[in-house]
Amino acid sequence: MGDVTLPLNGGCQCSALRYQVTTPPMMIYACHCTNCQKQTGSAFVLSAIINEATFSFSAGEPSKFEWTSDAGNRRYGYFCKDCGNRIANGQTPTSGVLSLRAGAFDDTSWVRPAGHIWVASAQSWIKFEKEDILFDAQPTDYAPLVEHFRSFGLFATAN
Ligand SMILES: [Zn+2]
Ligand SMILES: [Zn+2]
Repeated sequence: MGDVTLPLNGGCQCSALRYQVTTPPMMIYACHCTNCQKQTGSAFVLSAIINEATFSFSAGEPSKFEWTSDAGNRRYGYFCKDCGNRIANGQTPTSGVLSLRAGAFDDTSWVRPAGHIWVASAQSWIKFEKEDILFDAQPTDYAPLVEHFRSFGLFATAN
Protein backbone atom coordinates (compact mmCIF):
# COMPACT_ATOMS: atom_id res chain seq x y z
CA MET A 1 0.00 0.00 0.00
CA GLY A 2 1.12 3.52 -0.78
CA ASP A 3 4.22 2.40 -2.63
CA VAL A 4 3.56 3.48 -6.22
CA THR A 5 6.32 5.97 -7.00
CA LEU A 6 6.07 9.22 -8.92
CA PRO A 7 6.53 10.34 -11.61
CA LEU A 8 4.49 7.84 -13.58
CA ASN A 9 6.10 7.07 -16.93
CA GLY A 10 4.51 5.62 -19.99
CA GLY A 11 4.48 5.58 -23.73
CA CYS A 12 3.18 4.12 -26.95
CA GLN A 13 3.86 0.65 -28.31
CA CYS A 14 6.85 1.77 -30.45
CA SER A 15 8.23 4.16 -27.77
CA ALA A 16 8.39 7.14 -30.18
CA LEU A 17 5.95 8.89 -27.79
CA ARG A 18 6.92 8.97 -24.12
CA TYR A 19 5.23 10.84 -21.29
CA GLN A 20 5.50 11.63 -17.61
CA VAL A 21 2.92 12.46 -14.92
CA THR A 22 4.11 14.01 -11.66
CA THR A 23 0.95 13.60 -9.55
CA PRO A 24 -1.20 10.54 -8.77
CA PRO A 25 -4.29 9.96 -10.92
CA MET A 26 -7.48 11.31 -9.36
CA MET A 27 -9.18 8.07 -10.31
CA ILE A 28 -9.09 5.17 -12.71
CA TYR A 29 -12.28 3.76 -14.23
CA ALA A 30 -13.32 1.54 -17.07
CA CYS A 31 -15.35 3.25 -19.80
CA HIS A 32 -17.70 1.02 -21.78
CA CYS A 33 -18.99 3.72 -24.16
CA THR A 34 -19.27 2.94 -27.86
CA ASN A 35 -16.50 5.42 -28.76
CA CYS A 36 -14.03 3.67 -26.45
CA GLN A 37 -15.06 0.30 -27.85
CA LYS A 38 -14.50 1.57 -31.39
CA GLN A 39 -11.18 3.30 -30.63
CA THR A 40 -9.71 0.17 -29.10
CA GLY A 41 -11.53 -2.44 -31.13
CA SER A 42 -12.16 -3.94 -27.71
CA ALA A 43 -14.69 -3.98 -24.85
CA PHE A 44 -13.68 -0.94 -22.76
CA VAL A 45 -10.94 1.56 -22.00
CA LEU A 46 -9.10 1.88 -18.69
CA SER A 47 -8.98 5.64 -18.09
CA ALA A 48 -6.58 7.22 -15.62
CA ILE A 49 -7.83 10.75 -14.97
CA ILE A 50 -4.92 13.10 -14.29
CA ASN A 51 -4.30 16.80 -13.76
CA GLU A 52 -3.38 18.09 -17.24
CA ALA A 53 -0.90 20.59 -15.76
CA THR A 54 1.21 17.74 -14.35
CA PHE A 55 1.43 15.86 -17.66
CA SER A 56 4.12 16.29 -20.30
CA PHE A 57 5.49 14.45 -23.29
CA SER A 58 9.13 13.56 -22.68
CA ALA A 59 9.75 12.24 -26.20
CA GLY A 60 8.01 12.64 -29.55
CA GLU A 61 5.19 14.85 -30.83
CA PRO A 62 1.63 13.49 -30.60
CA SER A 63 -0.80 13.50 -33.50
CA LYS A 64 -4.34 14.65 -32.69
CA PHE A 65 -7.78 13.36 -33.61
CA GLU A 66 -11.09 15.08 -32.70
CA TRP A 67 -14.65 13.79 -32.30
CA THR A 68 -17.92 14.35 -30.41
CA SER A 69 -18.44 12.04 -27.41
CA ASP A 70 -21.53 9.98 -26.53
CA ALA A 71 -22.25 12.71 -23.93
CA GLY A 72 -22.03 15.41 -26.64
CA ASN A 73 -18.70 16.96 -25.64
CA ARG A 74 -16.00 17.93 -28.12
CA ARG A 75 -13.11 15.57 -27.41
CA TYR A 76 -9.64 15.02 -28.81
CA GLY A 77 -7.13 12.22 -28.62
CA TYR A 78 -3.34 12.22 -28.69
CA PHE A 79 -1.86 9.29 -30.53
CA CYS A 80 1.46 8.13 -31.99
CA LYS A 81 1.69 8.72 -35.72
CA ASP A 82 4.10 5.79 -36.08
CA CYS A 83 2.36 2.95 -34.21
CA GLY A 84 -1.12 4.47 -33.86
CA ASN A 85 -1.38 3.94 -30.09
CA ARG A 86 -3.84 6.28 -28.36
CA ILE A 87 -2.13 7.83 -25.33
CA ALA A 88 -4.56 10.37 -23.92
CA ASN A 89 -7.94 11.97 -24.46
CA GLY A 90 -8.83 15.56 -23.60
CA GLN A 91 -11.69 17.99 -24.05
CA THR A 92 -12.11 21.32 -25.89
CA PRO A 93 -12.44 23.70 -24.11
CA THR A 94 -10.17 22.02 -21.58
CA SER A 95 -11.66 20.65 -18.37
CA GLY A 96 -8.21 20.74 -16.72
CA VAL A 97 -7.84 16.98 -16.85
CA LEU A 98 -6.59 14.41 -19.31
CA SER A 99 -7.78 10.84 -19.57
CA LEU A 100 -4.73 8.60 -19.98
CA ARG A 101 -4.87 5.04 -21.26
CA ALA A 102 -3.93 3.31 -18.02
CA GLY A 103 -2.62 0.29 -19.92
CA ALA A 104 0.14 2.45 -21.46
CA PHE A 105 1.93 3.10 -18.17
CA ASP A 106 5.29 1.32 -18.05
CA ASP A 107 4.23 -0.33 -14.80
CA THR A 108 0.59 -1.42 -14.77
CA SER A 109 0.85 -3.74 -11.75
CA TRP A 110 -0.95 -1.21 -9.52
CA VAL A 111 -3.63 -0.21 -12.08
CA ARG A 112 -7.12 -1.04 -10.87
CA PRO A 113 -10.42 0.65 -11.81
CA ALA A 114 -12.52 2.20 -9.04
CA GLY A 115 -15.65 1.67 -11.09
CA HIS A 116 -17.30 1.47 -14.49
CA ILE A 117 -19.07 4.09 -16.61
CA TRP A 118 -21.36 3.73 -19.63
CA VAL A 119 -22.40 0.32 -18.26
CA ALA A 120 -25.53 0.55 -20.44
CA SER A 121 -23.37 -0.19 -23.51
CA ALA A 122 -21.04 -2.71 -21.81
CA GLN A 123 -20.53 -6.06 -23.52
CA SER A 124 -23.10 -8.54 -22.22
CA TRP A 125 -20.47 -10.97 -20.89
CA ILE A 126 -18.81 -8.42 -18.56
CA LYS A 127 -19.34 -9.36 -14.89
CA PHE A 128 -19.24 -6.61 -12.27
CA GLU A 129 -18.20 -7.04 -8.65
CA LYS A 130 -20.55 -6.13 -5.83
CA GLU A 131 -18.23 -3.34 -4.60
CA ASP A 132 -17.80 -1.79 -8.06
CA ILE A 133 -19.23 1.68 -8.54
CA LEU A 134 -21.40 1.61 -11.66
CA PHE A 135 -22.84 4.39 -13.84
CA ASP A 136 -25.21 3.67 -16.72
CA ALA A 137 -23.83 6.63 -18.71
CA GLN A 138 -21.55 9.64 -18.09
CA PRO A 139 -21.43 10.41 -14.34
CA THR A 140 -22.64 13.86 -13.35
CA ASP A 141 -20.66 13.52 -10.11
CA TYR A 142 -17.31 11.70 -10.11
CA ALA A 143 -16.80 12.01 -6.32
CA PRO A 144 -17.72 8.36 -5.56
CA LEU A 145 -15.09 7.17 -8.07
CA VAL A 146 -12.47 9.58 -6.68
CA GLU A 147 -13.17 8.47 -3.09
CA HIS A 148 -13.13 4.77 -3.93
CA PHE A 149 -9.89 5.11 -5.88
CA ARG A 150 -8.27 7.02 -2.99
CA SER A 151 -9.35 4.26 -0.61
CA PHE A 152 -7.06 1.84 -2.47
CA GLY A 153 -4.17 3.76 -0.82
CA LEU A 154 -1.82 3.26 -3.77
CA PHE A 155 0.17 6.45 -3.40
CA ALA A 156 2.08 7.68 -0.38
CA THR A 157 1.22 11.29 -1.15
CA ALA A 158 -2.32 12.58 -0.71
CA ASN A 159 -4.16 12.92 -3.99
ZN1 LIG B 1 4.38 4.72 -31.25
ZN1 LIG C 1 -15.62 5.91 -23.28
